[in-house]
Amino acid sequence: MSETIIQAEHLSKTYQSGSSKIPAVRDVSIQIKRGEMVVITGPSGSGKTTLLSLLGCILKPDRGKLIVDGLEVTQFSEKRLPRLRQKHFGFIFQSFNLLKSLTTLQNVEVAYWLRGVRGKRARSKALSLLSQVGLAERASHLPNQLSGGEQQRVAIARSLAGSPSIIFADEPTGNLDSKRGDQIVRMLSNLVKERQTAVVLVTHDLRLRSFADALYQLDDGKLTSGR
Ligand code: ADP
Ligand code: MG
Repeated sequence: MSETIIQAEHLSKTYQSGSSKIPAVRDVSIQIKRGEMVVITGPSGSGKTTLLSLLGCILKPDRGKLIVDGLEVTQFSEKRLPRLRQKHFGFIFQSFNLLKSLTTLQNVEVAYWLRGVRGKRARSKALSLLSQVGLAERASHLPNQLSGGEQQRVAIARSLAGSPSIIFADEPTGNLDSKRGDQIVRMLSNLVKERQTAVVLVTHDLRLRSFADALYQLDDGKLTSGR
C-alpha cells in the first residue's frame, strides 16, 4: 500500500443553476497521506461540501484528476464508484445521518451489511466499534434516545466499519456545542491514529485547526495551505 491515499490534481466543479454558473471548487490540488488528519476550514458557501464530495467520489469533477490508492478513478464508470467508496471510504456528516428506526447497534451493523458481512459476525464487529466509542451499553437504544454527541459517536463507529483508509467528515461538530465538539474530534483523532486511517475534515470552526496534521483553507472554491 502506498503512503499517498488520495492525489487530486486540478479538480474543478461548477454548478449550473438556471442560466447562472456557480464555480464551487476551482483548480484544487491536494495530496492525502496515510494516517494524516487533514483539516480544511472555510466559511459557509466556500465549497467545502463540494470538495469533500469530489474527493469522496460522490460527485464527478468537471475537470481534473483524482487518484485513489494508485487508481485513476476519474476514469471509472458510475457503476464502479459505490464499491470503491465502500472499500476505501467512511463518511461522517453534520446531521449524523443515522437511520431512525434502527437501533444504535443496527446503525453500525448496516455498514457491514453493505460490505457483505452479515449475521453474528457483523453484530460482534459493530458491537466492538460501539464499545470503542463508549456506547456499548446504548446498543439497543434508538437514535432519538441519544444526545447529539452520542449520535455522532455512533456515526464515528459506523464510519470505521470495514477499516476504510480515509474518513471524510463534513462539519462533524456543526450540531454540537463547543465542548462536545472538541470531545468528538479528539475521539475521532485518537481512533484513526491507532488505525493509520486518514481523515479529511471540513469545517467553518477555526478551533478545529488544532487537531490538524495538515491544514488548508478554502475561499470561494480556492484551496490554500493554511499554516
Ligand atoms: P460549503 O459546504 O462550504 O457551505 P458548498 O460546497 O455547499 O459550500 O457550496 C459551494 C457553492 O456552491 C455555494 O455557492 C452553493 O450555493 C453552491 N452549490 C452547492 N450545491 C449546489 C447545487 N447542487 N446546485 C447549485 N449550486 C450549488
Ligand atoms: Mg457544507
